[in-house]
Amino acid sequence: MLPTDIIIPRDATLLEIRDSYGPLSEEVRCGLEGCRTPHKRGFIVSFGDTSGVASGVGIVGHVCGQNAFGTNWLEAEQAYDAKVRAAEMDAARERFLVRSGRILPELRAALPRLKLHYIARRVLEKNAAFVMKTCVEAVKSSHGRIGIYRGGQHRILHRLEGESFWTTGNNALPRATELDVEATSFQEYLRSPNVTKKEAERRLGNLTDIEHRWGLVSKAMQAAESALQPSHLGKVFEAVDQVIRSTPHWHPPGLEPGDEWQLNVRLRGTVLEIRARDVQSGSTRETWIPAVDLVLQPLGASRVSEGPDFQPDLESLSKPPVQGPEGNESAGDAGERPMDVDRSPESSSGFG
Ligand SMILES: [Zn+2]
Repeated sequence: MLPTDIIIPRDATLLEIRDSYGPLSEEVRCGLEGCRTPHKRGFIVSFGDTSGVASGVGIVGHVCGQNAFGTNWLEAEQAYDAKVRAAEMDAARERFLVRSGRILPELRAALPRLKLHYIARRVLEKNAAFVMKTCVEAVKSSHGRIGIYRGGQHRILHRLEGESFWTTGNNALPRATELDVEATSFQEYLRSPNVTKKEAERRLGNLTDIEHRWGLVSKAMQAAESALQPSHLGKVFEAVDQVIRSTPHWHPPGLEPGDEWQLNVRLRGTVLEIRARDVQSGSTRETWIPAVDLVLQPLGASRVSEGPDFQPDLESLSKPPVQGPEGNESAGDAGERPMDVDRSPESSSGFG
């Protein structure tokens, strides 16, 4: 393959560096007449006679070129580096277009579901904060088991699936949106006539991990999907309810015993409802307002219903907060133990 048998005369002119080779497992002799030393790495060059007429292609060791050709070599090396960079850039751009062409349609198809997940989680965080904390705690400390320990017997009431939904931040939607915007605008940019290499390189640098970023989103989506199944959530509510009933002295952190702290959220079939209170002519009226239908409809058929006399701010709920991708963890930072979650016999105290 390498033109190892070509000798480059001492008075040859350098025309172009065409390629590089090595490191080789076995050294090959330098093509320069004045060198002929075995090298493991070097360049394939085209050279000419004294008047610059092309006369052949040979190999030059990686440090010999400058000795033999001086500034001509440096210029040729710069030109070669630029050529290599441009080729790498083209390849990277092609890879990006292929990958984004595959990922973006999937991502866009997932956005409506991500939005519903997002709203559902926000509703739960706002209106059933301690349930969320219980779930987070259960996932962190007891492999997702919510249970009670009573009369010397431990009973698991429920085991949470979709663990990462409860423990990682609720940032799949902002992440997906950001990725969509970034990748789409870059695709457009690459198709526009005024692409500059520098800008393309910069943007490409931000998108080399497009697969990884989409992977994080789909993982969070899968977890949310299983955590937000109505049957799953129903069991969670039931488990929390049972734990609460079996520990009458327990109350949510931040509240005093006797304070009212019922859940402000419930499931009606597949619909997550928020409790709202109106004070009308001196009497308090309590209404349940549907907030999110957890039967996550496929693309385009998502239903986000609002009650007649209550306007939960779903629009703002569904808007990703403007902050860093890791900044939206509101349920995961529960410092205290919110309730008896799968408490082991050794640590069990205060009830039973
Ligand atoms: Zn050499």
